[in-house]
Amino acid sequence: MPKKTKPADAIANDDAAAAAEDVLVDLTQPIEKKSKKTKRQEMRMQKKRPPFKPRQFSDLDCDVMLCVLEFCVPTAIWALSKVCRGFRELIAANEQYIADRIIAFRYPNISRCFRLPVLVTQLDSSAIRDEFGDIERSLDIFKREILPKRIQLRHIPKHLSKVTCSCTSCVDRWNMLCLAVDFAHWQDDLDRGKPMPAHKWGVKPAWERQLRARYRQKVIAALHRPLLYAMILESHLDSTVRAIRRQRQNKANQLRHFPITPADARSGTDAFLANEGPSSADIPFSRDTYYMLEVFMPGRAWDGDEKKWLYMAVKHELDLRYVVAQVKAFEVVDKQISEINRQLSR
Ligand SMILES: [Zn+2]
Repeated sequence: MPKKTKPADAIANDDAAAAAEDVLVDLTQPIEKKSKKTKRQEMRMQKKRPPFKPRQFSDLDCDVMLCVLEFCVPTAIWALSKVCRGFRELIAANEQYIADRIIAFRYPNISRCFRLPVLVTQLDSSAIRDEFGDIERSLDIFKREILPKRIQLRHIPKHLSKVTCSCTSCVDRWNMLCLAVDFAHWQDDLDRGKPMPAHKWGVKPAWERQLRARYRQKVIAALHRPLLYAMILESHLDSTVRAIRRQRQNKANQLRHFPITPADARSGTDAFLANEGPSSADIPFSRDTYYMLEVFMPGRAWDGDEKKWLYMAVKHELDLRYVVAQVKAFEVVDKQISEINRQLSR
């Protein structure tokens, strides 16, 4: 018996009905929030403020502030430390770090010519005593009996043996810093072509004494505050740029000048001083030498073969050995003289 089959239109109607049943209808609805916790959360969300956007320098995080300060000049940071207690504390807490970064970025060449002398307090370590014995006594004899025979610069303050080491290297460092401060002091007068003040040999006017006292105060402060040391380097860069400009305009000075571009002068860094050029290591023994002084960078010499500047090595410890040897030699001679005098007086 043949099997019965559905007609084609009946099969199509069945498929349409099945498809209509398969369509999903989303009948879910938000569940009503009834708990107190949910309501509190909703209220908090409504009250939530927009994200904080810094509008001024003081709104920045400390780390970001320090990153910005690294690129400022020392005088700007010093001025900022006077604005409020917050800035003062931030800068004081990070002063060494900020100064080191600024010096490495802006004054890598000048800082190698104008170093800080070693503080007397730094000599009072067991390592120093083990190697050099009573170094303070040796330095005292060296300063009293041997050092005064050296030429003393009249226009800068004498170094203080109670504050800094009296070895030759440290005394030179003291003198160089004082010279940088003095040269910076007279820049306005030199720009205007005003003559340097002169006074008779042996006469010490009151203004000169006051000036030297100010220099001494400034350099001693720089020994303890890295930012003040960086400010001395900044002032010497300014003096150097102004001196080069002056000498270029000085038609009487036909000597070769240090190469500098307007961009170098504006840069606020001493990068151009790494180039070859006439750079004086001679010490200005009087203010009269300032008239023709252009680039004063003591303790370096140009290496023509290597085409670069060579800087004097740090030789404080070497000098301490020299001091000890000098004092020993002095004491031997002194003993011999005393013995001769004793025999003659018999
Ligand atoms: Zn020293």
